[in-house]
Amino acid sequence: MILRSRSAVVTGSTSGIGLAIARALAKEGANVVINGFGDAGAIEKERAGIEREFGVKAIHSPADMTKPREIEEMVRLGERTFGSVDILVNNAGIQFVSPVEDFPVEKWDQIIAINLSSAFHAIRAAVPGMKARGWGRIINTASAHSLVASPFKSAYVAAKHGIAGLTKTLALEVATHGITVNCISPGYVWTPLVEKQIPDTMKARGLTKEQVINDVLLEAQPTKQFVTVDQVAALAVFLCSDAASQITGTNLPMDGGWTAE
Ligand code: NAD
Repeated sequence: MILRSRSAVVTGSTSGIGLAIARALAKEGANVVINGFGDAGAIEKERAGIEREFGVKAIHSPADMTKPREIEEMVRLGERTFGSVDILVNNAGIQFVSPVEDFPVEKWDQIIAINLSSAFHAIRAAVPGMKARGWGRIINTASAHSLVASPFKSAYVAAKHGIAGLTKTLALEVATHGITVNCISPGYVWTPLVEKQIPDTMKARGLTKEQVINDVLLEAQPTKQFVTVDQVAALAVFLCSDAASQITGTNLPMDGGWTAE
């Protein structure tokens, strides 16, 4: 249990990759603030399950990642409840697939807010405490789309390239404070986010569901396999370990070879 005295905030952790990361950090002994939307009963079940299974404390923050004040309050809630926020995982994200000329302006703004600006707001709230304690881990869930592009995902690719730049900048700013800042960049991971974009990709490209899965999604991954949420979570845990204290400012792909091409 390498994270026994630590506390973490994981944004967008009521589902998919974020939930797997929150559970993996809790398994290593960290108290966790989970965050995100969903059915209240299902969220409470996950929260209570984390406490029961791993013997840590878990609370849910309903903060909306488009609202700077709520994001700041989420970090303060973690600090008030646990005494510190030592690990911040900026993971919340949404996707929208459309040719640029039809891309709804409000969707562009929402994606930039959730996938990029929310990380800035959480970071600026959490960094003073991390600096004061001389230890911190900031992990941003970026994407293979922080390194390469795909058509019809203009806002997502722009936001993910942005978070890669924010990661590098912040890593330099806090390097002497015992704080590391890195991105994990998964390829396609089978989560609701991927499932939900299949109908729009079918429409945008005129393909069947099977064609989207095999010829668009897995086409990008030389291994022809989806990444799993547990694999991403294991890398996040490693980045929180002492062995990773000299890994900072990096963008670590986990994409079945996608970005090697
Ligand atoms: P998901 O849809 O399963 O989970 C997204 C989470 O974000 C949910 O908990 C949701 O409630 C939360 N969320 C959405 N809007 C929010 C808001 N306004 N405020 C607070 N929470 C909000 O998605 P996922 O696939 O687990 O994606 C998680 C992250 O991983 C995203 O940043 C995504 O871009 C990235 N990613 C996913 C894949 C993939 O293939 N699934 C690949 C690369 C990167």
